[in-house]
Amino acid sequence: MKARNKPCALGKATRAIHGGGLDNTVYGEVSVPIFQSSTFAFPNAAEGAARFAGKSSGYIYSRMNNPTVNALEENLVILENGYSAMATATGMAAVSTALLALLEQGAHVVSTDSLYGSTRVLIENELARYGVRSTFVDTSNVENVRKAIRPETRLVFIETPTNPTMKLTDLRAVSEIARGAGAKVVVDNTFASPYLQRPFEHGADVIVHSLTKFVNGHSDVVGGAIVLNGPELHQKIRKALNLYGGTMDPHQAWLILRGVRTLPLRLEKAQENAMKLAAFLSGHPKVTWVRYPGLPDHPQYEIAKRQMDGFGAMICFGVKNGLEGGVTLMNSVELITLAVSLGGVETLIEHPASMTHASISREEREKAGILDELVRLAVGCEDFEDLRKDLDQALNEIPQAPDAGR
Ligand SMILES: *Cc1c(COP(=O)(O)O)cnc(C)c1O
Repeated sequence: MKARNKPCALGKATRAIHGGGLDNTVYGEVSVPIFQSSTFAFPNAAEGAARFAGKSSGYIYSRMNNPTVNALEENLVILENGYSAMATATGMAAVSTALLALLEQGAHVVSTDSLYGSTRVLIENELARYGVRSTFVDTSNVENVRKAIRPETRLVFIETPTNPTMKLTDLRAVSEIARGAGAKVVVDNTFASPYLQRPFEHGADVIVHSLTKFVNGHSDVVGGAIVLNGPELHQKIRKALNLYGGTMDPHQAWLILRGVRTLPLRLEKAQENAMKLAAFLSGHPKVTWVRYPGLPDHPQYEIAKRQMDGFGAMICFGVKNGLEGGVTLMNSVELITLAVSLGGVETLIEHPASMTHASISREEREKAGILDELVRLAVGCEDFEDLRKDLDQALNEIPQAPDAGR
């Protein structure tokens, strides 16, 4: 398929389905085979030398390059309208490799405050051991980014929409501020996926993904990727990935390639369900507030319309009775699965205050907007009516008692 040569000429669904393949098929196979081989034979010594010297593009060793992994990487380049992509073992391998490649001792990072938990710990605690400094601000107000930038700021790391608070950051405005300060912009595009948001179109330099979520979409594999918008950083990051070793395995790549083919279909269905569920929740007596980018009362609704092609499948909302109300809801859902993660075909529900963010003090949590009453819903592709009924019966289990939690 020649989609790889003309990525921009085709629609988003066509790109997801046809993007990334082999130069030559072996038997005319339609699915990309799993090249489960750790190493690749050289036809002769001169060719081996040429591959190591970068003068021939043949394969060497699967930590460095593999045809199945390459096919997935090409697909991601085409979806993000980027220059190159590197698949990684997990989303965290993408985040850590990109940060380790782009930062050095004394460097400073400005970042979204309610980041994916592990990313925040990595920047704040782990990279600090190597002399990297960091400032976490609410990037939904870009003035906070401008104020946080220092002469030694090398990176601005943005997550939009944020997990679990569903705040949006104006990527174009942040990119302009960062460029003016000589800093690169890295965007974690996991929550939106390239089907709904392509950060390079808004000035970002690097995109990281947890492919575990919407891109793979079936809750059956972990994986990640780093995508670049030009050749400038490619060698540096590729080298770091080879050295730190967080590369993807061909079987993982094959599963994710199979998953990405249906990303458009899944996301269209899931976000249609999410829009209807957000409206239903907004009117429910046991729900105190709803935050979904597709609701006109979302504080960054205008940014969502400008920056995203759709409002996505993630919702957060508050329930009556704070912590206890959240716990009751978790224990009362029947169809919806009580689990962390997101982006699969099945709907998942999670209560950050008693689960993912329970180790953080309530005070710290509240500062980041992670209230006791906050529930995160990762909407899947089931029939809307079944999801609505399950949420309704589970919410009705929350007692009507006065709000004692907060
Ligand atoms: C899940 C997730 C990650 C980490 O990805 P893994 O595949 O679990 O390593 C990073 N960022 C966001 C926004 C995520 O949701």
